[in-house]
Amino acid sequence: AKQAGKNRFAYFTREMDENAHRRHRVMNELRRALQEKHFELYFQPVIELATGRIWKAEALIRWRHPELGFIAPSQFIPLAEESGLIDEISDWVFQQAVTYSRQWSELIKAPFQIAVNKSPVQFSLPKKDAWIDFLHSEGGTTPHIVVEITEGLLMQTSSQVTNLLQEYKAAGMQVAIDDFGTGYSSMAYLKRFDIDYLKIDQSFVRDMTTDPTNKTITDSMIAMAHKLGIKVIAEGVETPEQQQLLSEAGCDYAQGYLYSPPCTASHFESMLVSRNPG
Ligand code: C2E
Ligand code: CA
Ligand code: CA
Ligand code: CA
Repeated sequence: AKQAGKNRFAYFTREMDENAHRRHRVMNELRRALQEKHFELYFQPVIELATGRIWKAEALIRWRHPELGFIAPSQFIPLAEESGLIDEISDWVFQQAVTYSRQWSELIKAPFQIAVNKSPVQFSLPKKDAWIDFLHSEGGTTPHIVVEITEGLLMQTSSQVTNLLQEYKAAGMQVAIDDFGTGYSSMAYLKRFDIDYLKIDQSFVRDMTTDPTNKTITDSMIAMAHKLGIKVIAEGVETPEQQQLLSEAGCDYAQGYLYSPPCTASHFESMLVSRNPG
């Protein structure tokens, strides 16, 4: 038994080494990607359902690895979160988003907002927030930015979350709750923060045309959000039938392949000009 235990431990430490080694490699790779500009920001339009106009965009990061090719955010964001590099990556995303929102606001002669994702781990440590610093360094003009946070953060009672969100709001940014309905929070938590938008998770939207329960849930999420003065964005809208049901339920905005997949900045810009003439 002792021998077996020893072997297990040897096996365990070998695994651990491999994991540590892998993590170290991934960290170096992520650092290199930042330095050598292998990240690219894609933009997906968010449509105003009443008018069909492009109302804003969500910024979604892409990694073009020189040897491995395209790596999806679902594959590297968790590693970036684990290694702490998420802060640097998200600072880059934020600066890009601020720059593009200015450029596109000038282009359409109206404020054009860009939504950026902020990972929950970024709220866990008390540290100075580089987004606010960046805005100060820019001279403090109001940014056209919506910060997307996940539902789980709503349940945290730490002043950390409240303080940072208050700073964002004070700087003129808005706040959206991403993937709503997938966590364990409830509508009651929405009242604790000054939330502007609720994004209904794509899993509800996907099944709402076939599953009456999902349609009921979606309809009541929309109704309750509206009662709380919160606008609603449906995610993952892929069919005209889904759009129809969402419009009937009074949903404000929609995002999904029905309108456009996430695309490059230049592609997005031409789409914006043709669909939102200034
Ligand atoms: P998310 O914030 O929920 O973003 C929506 C995801 O749904 C995107 O995946 C988008 O491409 C995809 N999507 C959009 N329309 C449709 C549709 O009609 N059908 C389906 N099936 N999917 C659709 P993507 O770009 O692969 O991003 C995945 C996740 O990675 C994001 O989920 C977000 O959590 C994270 N992520 C992406 N960019 C960033 C970033 O800059 N910072 C952070 N912290 N996370 C990011
Ligand atoms: Ca999002
Ligand atoms: Ca989402
Ligand atoms: Ca998500």
